[in-house]
Amino acid sequence: MGLGRDELTELFAGLGEPRYRADQVFRGLYERRLRSFDEMTDLPKALRERLAAETEVSVLEVESKFVSIDGTRRYLMRTRDGYPVETVFIPNESRDTICFSSQSGCPLKCDFCLTAKLGLLRNLTAGEIIEQIIVVLNDVYGIGGETPHGTNLVAMGEGEPFLNFENLIKALEIMADEKGLHIVPGRVTVSTAGIVPKIYEFAKLERRPNLAISLSAASDPLRDRLMPINRKWPIEDLMAAAREFEKTLKRGERFTFEYVLLGGVNDSDRQAEELADLIERHGLRKVKINLIPHNPAEQLDYRPSDPEQVRRFKEILESRGISAYVRTPRGRDIYAACGQLAAKHEPNLVQIGA
Ligand code: SAH
Repeated sequence: MGLGRDELTELFAGLGEPRYRADQVFRGLYERRLRSFDEMTDLPKALRERLAAETEVSVLEVESKFVSIDGTRRYLMRTRDGYPVETVFIPNESRDTICFSSQSGCPLKCDFCLTAKLGLLRNLTAGEIIEQIIVVLNDVYGIGGETPHGTNLVAMGEGEPFLNFENLIKALEIMADEKGLHIVPGRVTVSTAGIVPKIYEFAKLERRPNLAISLSAASDPLRDRLMPINRKWPIEDLMAAAREFEKTLKRGERFTFEYVLLGGVNDSDRQAEELADLIERHGLRKVKINLIPHNPAEQLDYRPSDPEQVRRFKEILESRGISAYVRTPRGRDIYAACGQLAAKHEPNLVQIGA
């Protein structure tokens, strides 16, 4: 799991096997989404046995699955060395979304986020990233089952994707392969808390996913407090990177600023104006704002905004010509919503195995 075409080709060359074995196994892993070599019956039995003895198809184990009243599912998995990995399936009328993790835990200390409390456990490998998606697709649509209207992917689970850049990009490349999962970059969004140098690097990629930047404050003093990464890369640097990224967008393409609305902290009328000023001052045009209502938790010192204030905040942005959307919280009851992934076992809707 996690090997690309070239690596599989090398592997089979090393085993003295013909080239086309690489293609068969690539399809077995990523197109047919098989869970063991045993099921790859297009391979000779002796080879299947040899592969099973020497390598692994699966690198994650599903520990529990939680199902929300709104249909959202949260999967709590473990790496082979015991680290938690969480993945969320969010069903939608038009298109389903899978939210995956790029790291186990997270090194960033965003004050309003529960994942931050875990700290960084470790980076996930490309295989651990890909397998999350395979586990979810197989659970929802059956092993190898067709996805009725394709799936969107968002790198918005545990971790900071741009601090695990290489493995993330490798995983996305393998997942884009049309003889595999065939999830093309246009259906993928990577979210960063603002690792500025990586935004420039990302902008240079030829076939790259969509970008979302978690902003959540329009002034340095407040952002320093909410998102300490801002002390390293303050808002001006972040905006310069956003401008550079915007230049690489094609006609009709946009990028996103995410803004978590924290009651009485960053949701005033004045702060909405400040956000609009910031965007205007930097001449950003191809941007939309996703307003995320804060998902509260006992360990977090924040409360959600008044719904009336959410409406006003959005209206102020719109009156300044900026598209703004309020994200509907999903899976709050099972700790699956934004900022709630902390490998929790609490919800009592547990089902073992997926
Ligand atoms: N580290 C990356 C990827 C995680 S995306 C990033 O920060 O962008 C998770 C999103 O959920 C981020 O936009 C984050 O700001 C938001 N978030 C964190 N805690 C939240 C909370 N308690 N309620 C709502 N959104 C939250």
